Amino acid sequence: MNHDIEPARQLPVRYDVDVLVVGGGPGGVGAALGAARNGAKTLLVERFGCLGGSQTLTYSSSFSFVNNELQGGFVKEITERMDRGGGVVHDIPEKWDRGGWGPKQGVVFFDGEYYKHFLDNLMAEAGVKVLFHAFAVGSIREGNVLKALIVESREGRFAIRAKVIIDCTGIGDIAWKSGAPVIGQEGFPDGPYKGQHMGYGWAFFIGGLDVKKYRAFEREHPREWNQYISGRELIKQAKAKGNLYLLRNSVILGERENGRVWVLSPGYTLKPDQHPWEVEAMTAGEIDLRKQAWSLHKLLKENVPGFENSYIEQTPVQPLLRDGHRIRGEHILTEHDMTTVKTFDDAITVCNMPPDYFLPNGTHHFEFNVTPYDIPYRCLISTEIDNLLAAGASVSLDFKAWAAVRYNTPSMCTGQAAGTAAALCVKTSVSPKRLEVRTLQDKLRSQGLRTSVKEVPENVIKQYERMAKEALAIEDFAG
Ligand SMILES: Cc1cc2nc3c(=O)[nH]c(=O)nc-3n(C[C@H](O)[C@H](O)[C@H](O)COP(=O)(O)OP(=O)(O)OC[C@H]3O[C@@H](n4cnc5c(N)ncnc54)[C@H](O)[C@@H]3O)c2cc1C
Repeated sequence: MNHDIEPARQLPVRYDVDVLVVGGGPGGVGAALGAARNGAKTLLVERFGCLGGSQTLTYSSSFSFVNNELQGGFVKEITERMDRGGGVVHDIPEKWDRGGWGPKQGVVFFDGEYYKHFLDNLMAEAGVKVLFHAFAVGSIREGNVLKALIVESREGRFAIRAKVIIDCTGIGDIAWKSGAPVIGQEGFPDGPYKGQHMGYGWAFFIGGLDVKKYRAFEREHPREWNQYISGRELIKQAKAKGNLYLLRNSVILGERENGRVWVLSPGYTLKPDQHPWEVEAMTAGEIDLRKQAWSLHKLLKENVPGFENSYIEQTPVQPLLRDGHRIRGEHILTEHDMTTVKTFDDAITVCNMPPDYFLPNGTHHFEFNVTPYDIPYRCLISTEIDNLLAAGASVSLDFKAWAAVRYNTPSMCTGQAAGTAAALCVKTSVSPKRLEVRTLQDKLRSQGLRTSVKEVPENVIKQYERMAKEALAIEDFAG
C-alpha cells in the first residue's frame, strides 16, 4: 500500500482528568459510574450522540440473564430504577420464555429511548462529564504510559490527558491504536484471524403490525410461528424459489402490543481476506444487511397476516462487529477457565453467560451448558500499557470466553470493576497492575457487586447446574 506522511501538529489539551472512559456502551457506563462514584474526576467520550452502545445504537436493548444474587451492583440498580420509572418493557411474548430468552430466564428488556435519557441523567447525577461526537483516534504514548488520547471532533482534533484510561470501545480500539498487544491481531496466538471472524449481527424495527391478527395467525400455526425462532418453513420455501435474500433460515420476532416489532435475522459473513473493522467490509455489510431487511419485510408483508400494512421503521447506525480486538491482558480467560477452573483469587465479578458464537459460515451456536464462573481482575489489565484498563467486550478473552463475556450484563459488571479500580489507582497513586486486589474486591462488595462464585448462594448455583444438565440449546438462532 502507498503511504503519505501526515504533518506533525500541536494539539490543544482540552481536558486533564483522573479517569478517561472511551465508549458509552454497558462497559463504559459501568466504568464511568464506578470511577466517578469512587471520587475520580471522570470523562467519558463517545463517538455517537447517545450512551448505551450496542444497547441503543444497534437495538440490543436488554440485560441478559439478570440474577441479583449472582451479579448485583449497577445492573441491579439500573434495571430496578428503570422498572420503577416505567422504562422496562413487560409485554414480551411468552414464546420468548419458552425459547429460553425471556423474562423468566432473567432477561430484562427496556425501551431504548428511555434508556438513553435515563443514562444522561445517571451520568449527571454521578458527576461524569460526557462528550458526544468525540471519536478517540489515537494516543500520545510515552514508553508504557498513555499520556493522552487524541480525539477527533467536528471542530478538529484535541488531546485529553488522563491518569487512567479505560478502553470500553467494544473492540479494544484504544489498545489497538496505541500499539499495545491485542487479541485478534495477526501474529498473536489467540486469533481470530482473517477467515475466522463471526461476521456482523444486526437487528431492526418494523412498525404498524396488526398484533391481534398476527396472534390469531400464530395460534393457527403454533409450530412454525408461535415460537421464539420462527418462520422456518416460509423462509425455506422462499429461498428455494429465489424469492428471499437472507443469510439465515429463520427469524426472531419481538412484537409488542403497540404493533412495533423487533426483528433479528439479517446476518453477514465476511470474506476470508477481510477483518470486520475494515471500512470496505463494513460498507459492504451495511448495504447487504439492509437488502436482507427489505427482502425479509417484503416476504412477511406478502405472506404473514398482520404484516400487510407494516413498514420498516428503523435500522441501526452500524452493524455489530462481533469480534474486533480485545486487550491482551495479564490473563486471557479461556473456555477451560469457564468450564473447569471456575474461580480465581483475583475475581472481580461473576458471569453466567455461556458462549454464544457464530462461525465464519454463518451458523450459530448457543447452549446453556456452563455454570457460573469468575472473571479475574487480570483480564482487565493491559500487559504492556501501565495505565490502561478495559471493560465490556474489550477485555482479555479467548474466542469462546469472548462469545459469553461480551454480553450486556457481564459488560456492565466488568465496567463497574474497571471504573472502581481506576478510581482506587488514582487515589493511591498506583498503576492498575500494582493495585491491591483485595482492596478492590472489598470496595466492589461494599457497593453490592458479587465478586466471586464463592459468594453466590448454593441454591442459585444449583439452579444453573440444572439448566446446564438440561442443556437448553438454541440452534440456528437468527442473531
Ligand atoms: C443485534 C444484536 C443483538 C444482541 N443481543 C444481545 C442480547 O440479547 N443480550 C446481550 O447481553 N447482548 C446482546 N448483544 C451484544 C451486546 O450488545 C454487546 O456485546 C455489548 O453491548 C458490548 O458492550 P460494550 O460496552 O463492550 O461495547 P458496545 O456496546 O459496543 O459499546 C461501545 C461503545 O464505544 C463507542 N466507541 C467505539 N470506539 C470508539 C472510539 N474510538 N472513540 C469513542 N467511542 C467509541 C461505540 O460507539 C459504542 O457506543 C447483541 C448485539 C446486537 C448488535
